[in-house]
Amino acid sequence: MTNSLKVAVIGAGVAGLTAARELQRESLQVVVFEKSNQLGGTWAYDPRVESDLLGVDPKRDVVHSSLYKSLKTNLPRELMSFTDFKFGEKVYSDPRLFPGHEEVLMFLKDFASHFELTKLIRFNTMVTRVEVVDSAGIPEFVVESNTNGVNSVEVFDAVVICNGRNTQPLLPTDIPGIETWSRKQMHSHNYRVPEPFRDQIVVVIGSGPSGVDISKEIAMVAKEVHISSRSSLVKLGKSDKFNNMWHHPEIKCISKDGLIMFEDGFSIDADVILHCTGYKFHVPFLKSSSIVSVEDKRIGPLYKHVFPPQLAPRLSFVGLPEHNFAFLIIECQSRWIAHALSNKVSLPSEDEMLSEVVKHYEEMKEKGLPEKATHQLGFKLDYMNWMWAQTGMVVEKRIKEMVECLVHCLMTVGLDGYMDMFSQIYGR
Ligand code: FAD
Repeated sequence: MTNSLKVAVIGAGVAGLTAARELQRESLQVVVFEKSNQLGGTWAYDPRVESDLLGVDPKRDVVHSSLYKSLKTNLPRELMSFTDFKFGEKVYSDPRLFPGHEEVLMFLKDFASHFELTKLIRFNTMVTRVEVVDSAGIPEFVVESNTNGVNSVEVFDAVVICNGRNTQPLLPTDIPGIETWSRKQMHSHNYRVPEPFRDQIVVVIGSGPSGVDISKEIAMVAKEVHISSRSSLVKLGKSDKFNNMWHHPEIKCISKDGLIMFEDGFSIDADVILHCTGYKFHVPFLKSSSIVSVEDKRIGPLYKHVFPPQLAPRLSFVGLPEHNFAFLIIECQSRWIAHALSNKVSLPSEDEMLSEVVKHYEEMKEKGLPEKATHQLGFKLDYMNWMWAQTGMVVEKRIKEMVECLVHCLMTVGLDGYMDMFSQIYGR
């Protein structure tokens, strides 16, 4: 392998920008394809909502970002940093430990300009097809893209997929009667501001970070908010903080006359159901399903959530792991890919990588974990420690301590209070 490999990076969000920086550092030729007219991905807030508020209609115009207007980060800025470009040391207009989304976008623009990444990006260019072809035993990739209606086809030595994982809503399929419910339903992907919920009775499904955050905001204007949760950690009953908010277990069914009935026996005639049920993977341009398949919550087989063994290191994914520290993970994955492509690190054999994936799937089965847990790493340092060791990255002790402290706060007080507890510990 030589250092002159031509590498396509798909997406100019955190993952694409970081991958581009690492590949450029290894003197590889990098082209970043970005379908929108700006960088930042999720962090480029878009006030538009989609025509289909559930995000099901394949013909709708897709809005990429799922941010809502008031969103502030759910991680402290120090843990949304890169090892040599620290958000914690930079303040643009919002000095808070957990700043608003505008601050993150400013940080990413600064990052791109500092490392001269913008010149690598082809904006308004949507990748429509990535297909592997065999060229004398070495894989090559046909990348088809469309810029303002004009198609182009190019061949690359490697492709790094960084198209994000928070755009395609994942909806529950197991609520009897929901298919005939005729009132408004939407997914949090299309939530921007609370005003449309004024004086409404709202049922929120899901109590993850978005469910918790959005419910609180809606409760300021809605008549009633009823949150349905699968988690055994949620205290059921009336909220301690809001007079008009109740926590319930799962929805049992929706009756023919439209009543939403919960497992605790409570039922309500609601105006709207808001699904805060997360997202599914979506890589429509990848045409190599026999080598790597994309299911709702599993892309595989992938060695360490990055490389399909059969095409490693020429094809890779950045940013798939869920429930963790996206920026930190994205940086070490990107460096690992760049080092593997430039022969600085070697990967195990294809068989060894594959058997590690099989082992991971078997362990999940033994533990009774569903397929959707495939890329959920849990808020643990193990994965990052392994990646940092592969690439010789030195991560400050302070960052590791912050990770551990944040996990401790989450475990102690849950999603609803961990930020306050963390802020008190760090005195801000
Ligand atoms: P994205 O940011 O989604 O970027 C993907 C890019 O790929 C986009 O620019 C898109 O336009 C482009 N693209 C997609 N398809 C194509 C194509 N076919 N051709 C060309 N370009 C394409 N993380 C944190 O660390 N802290 C937080 O507080 C936090 N809060 C969050 C809150 C919400 C509501 C959401 C949804 C996510 C949050 N995250 C948070 C996670 C967040 O997704 C990551 O921080 C990060 O933005 C992921 O970056 P990415 O580059 O993988 O994906």
